[in-house]
Amino acid sequence: MTFDTARLRFDQIRLPPQCDELRQEVRAFIAQEVAAGTFDPSDPRHGDLHNPELSRRIGARGWIGMTWPKKYGGHERSFLERYVVTEEFRVANAPVRLHFVADRQSGPILLKYAPEHIKTDILPRICRGELCFVIGMSEPGSGSDLFAAKTRATKTKGGWLINGTKVWTSNAHLAHYMLGLFRTSSATKENRRHGLTQFLVDMKTPGIRVNPIYQMTGQHDFNEVVFEDAFVPDDHILGELDGAWKQATSELAYERSGPERFLETFYVLNGFVRAVGPKPDLRSAEGLGRLVAQLHTLRRMSVSVNGMLQRGEEPVIEGALVKDLGTGWEQKLPARVRELAAFLEPEAANRATLDEQIAYATMIAPKLTIQGGTTEILRGIIARGLGLR
Ligand SMILES: Cc1cc2nc3c(=O)[nH]c(=O)nc-3n(C[C@H](O)[C@H](O)[C@H](O)COP(=O)(O)OP(=O)(O)OC[C@H]3O[C@@H](n4cnc5c(N)ncnc54)[C@H](O)[C@@H]3O)c2cc1C
Repeated sequence: MTFDTARLRFDQIRLPPQCDELRQEVRAFIAQEVAAGTFDPSDPRHGDLHNPELSRRIGARGWIGMTWPKKYGGHERSFLERYVVTEEFRVANAPVRLHFVADRQSGPILLKYAPEHIKTDILPRICRGELCFVIGMSEPGSGSDLFAAKTRATKTKGGWLINGTKVWTSNAHLAHYMLGLFRTSSATKENRRHGLTQFLVDMKTPGIRVNPIYQMTGQHDFNEVVFEDAFVPDDHILGELDGAWKQATSELAYERSGPERFLETFYVLNGFVRAVGPKPDLRSAEGLGRLVAQLHTLRRMSVSVNGMLQRGEEPVIEGALVKDLGTGWEQKLPARVRELAAFLEPEAANRATLDEQIAYATMIAPKLTIQGGTTEILRGIIARGLGLR
C-alpha cells in the first residue's frame, strides 16, 4: 500500500507581529472582565455558558466577524488575527458560546451563499454579538452519514414546509437562527448525496419545538428540535437546491481546525501548573514538558491551517488531522494530569480547584471526539486524502 504525504501540507506559518499587539489588547480586555466578575477562568463550567452582554462587548471591540467585509459589519482582518482572539478567549475559559458558532461557521456560509438582503440584515447583527446560530445537521438516524438526513422540506406557495427531527442541536434553546440541512428531493442512483438543501431557519417560526437533552454534568447544552409544518420562505435557501453536499465540506474546514479543538480542557493544564508552582519536582516537570511540547505542535498545525484559510484554500484534510489529534489530546489531558497530580501533597496550592477541574473535564471528555465529526470519520477523510482508500 502506498500513501502520498505530498497531499498533506502544513506550511511553516508564524503569527505576524500585529498579532502580538492584538493579543495584548485581548488579554487586557479579558483581565478587565475577570476583575469585574464577569467570569472565572478557573471554573470549567464558565466556558460552557452564554453571556449576551459579554458577547455584545466583544462585538463592540471588533472581535466577531473579524475576517468579513466591512460592508457587512466585518473588520477585514486576517484569519491569523482571528486565531489569536479565539485562542485567548478559549484559554481564559470565557463564556463566548452565544456568538461562537455564528462567528466561526454560520456567518461564512451566509457570506458565500445567502441573498444580498439577508447578508445586509443578519451579518452586522452577528458582528455586534447579538445573534446565536445553531447547526441543524444530525438526526436520530443520521449523524456521521449526514447524507442520510430525512427531515423534509416540501415546496409550498412562497416557500417550504419543514417536517422531521434534528438532534444534538447545541444551543437550540437559546438560538435565533439555525442553518439546517433538509431533504428537498430523493438521492439519485448516481449520487447518493444529491437531494439535500441548506436553509436559514428563524427559530421563532411557528411549528418548531425544542426539547432539552441534559449532559452528564447536568448542563443543558443540546436539544432535540422537532419541525411540524414549519414554514421557511424561498429566499432562505442557501446555495444550490439539492446541492448542499457541495457546500457542507467547506463548512467543516472552518469547524474542525481552530484552537477550540484542542483547548477545551486546557484549564486542567493551567490548574496543574498552579498546583506544582514555580519549582516542580522532576516527575511533574517532565510530564508538563511533554504535554506542553505536544500542545505547541498542535498549535503550529492549527495556525498553519488558518494560514491556508487566509489564502482562500479549503484545507479539509489538514483540518481533519488537527481535529483528530487535537481532540484526542484534550480528551486524554484530564487523565494524564490526574496521574501526575497523584504525587502532589494534599495541601498543595490550588489542589481542591484542580480536583474539581479534573472531575468536570473527565465528564465532558467523551464528547470531544464525537462533536464536529467522530474519530473514525476523520481518519476516513485523512486516509482518503492520503490515497489510502
Ligand atoms: C457535544 C456535542 C454537540 C453536538 N452538537 C451538534 C450540533 O450542534 N448540531 C448537529 O447537527 N450535531 C451535533 N452533534 C452531533 C454530532 O455531530 C454527531 O453525534 C456525530 O456526527 C456522530 O453521529 P451519531 O451520534 O449519529 O453517531 P453514528 O454516526 O451513528 O456513529 C456511531 C459510531 O459509529 C462510527 N461510524 C459511523 N460511520 C462510520 C464509518 N463510515 N466508518 C467508520 N466508523 C463509523 C462512529 O465513528 C461512531 O463511533 C453534537 C454531538 C455532541 C457530542
